[in-house]
Amino acid sequence: MVWGMRKCTVFLSPALYSILSPPHLCEIVRTGTRTAPSSRHNAAAQGIQCCHLAGVFSGICGGGEVMELQDTEQQNSVSLEIIPRHEWGARAPTSQTALNMPVTYLVIHHSAGSRCFTPLESGKALRGIQNFHMDTRGWWDIGYSFLISEDGNLYEGRGWDTEGAHTLHYNKDSYGVCFLGSFTDETPRSAALQKVEILIRTGISRGHLRPDYILKGHRDLGDTECPGEALYEHIQTLPHFQP
Ligand SMILES: [Zn+2]
Repeated sequence: MVWGMRKCTVFLSPALYSILSPPHLCEIVRTGTRTAPSSRHNAAAQGIQCCHLAGVFSGICGGGEVMELQDTEQQNSVSLEIIPRHEWGARAPTSQTALNMPVTYLVIHHSAGSRCFTPLESGKALRGIQNFHMDTRGWWDIGYSFLISEDGNLYEGRGWDTEGAHTLHYNKDSYGVCFLGSFTDETPRSAALQKVEILIRTGISRGHLRPDYILKGHRDLGDTECPGEALYEHIQTLPHFQP
């Protein structure tokens, strides 16, 4: 565990949690009975657009939401850690509206920018995308529901409850998941690809996503190359994909 600008996740009893809560250093996540401390510090790049464009910035400190799932088939415990908005320096939305729950579609996007391998690079890319969506496109917030970097980190965009702005005519009934990078010639790393599958299982488990959800690539629903040919080929192999 490293304090300061590095991310750390620690699991404590509620009593210790109430004593040891330094919100500006690292966030101490709620108690997990069997979850080991996790790390999401790895590798690097910059992100830019899905069909979009990004900007610049720096600095990120860790913490986040952890949800533990029981995989009944494999009897494996799987945790989903979502890095919350405040940790990547998100601006407040100018407005928001609720999604239709449970959500029917999960739409895969890519940012069409540089790949992100570290929290620092991801934070920079996320803020750039948000600035572009809000300042140039005039949207209420970053358009995507969630974003995934090459180190397997999952970032909160509009999150589970709020309608996004990523797939015209489908935003009310879909989650938009964006892989940070351009994936025309190669797929995201396995850590990133695995994360979207955990996200889906978590969404179903929580009742946010329909168990019979439909997986789509952005290009299936609009005139775009997104999410890139290589990534699109990959998602066609996943359960629930429908062109
Ligand atoms: Zn897209």
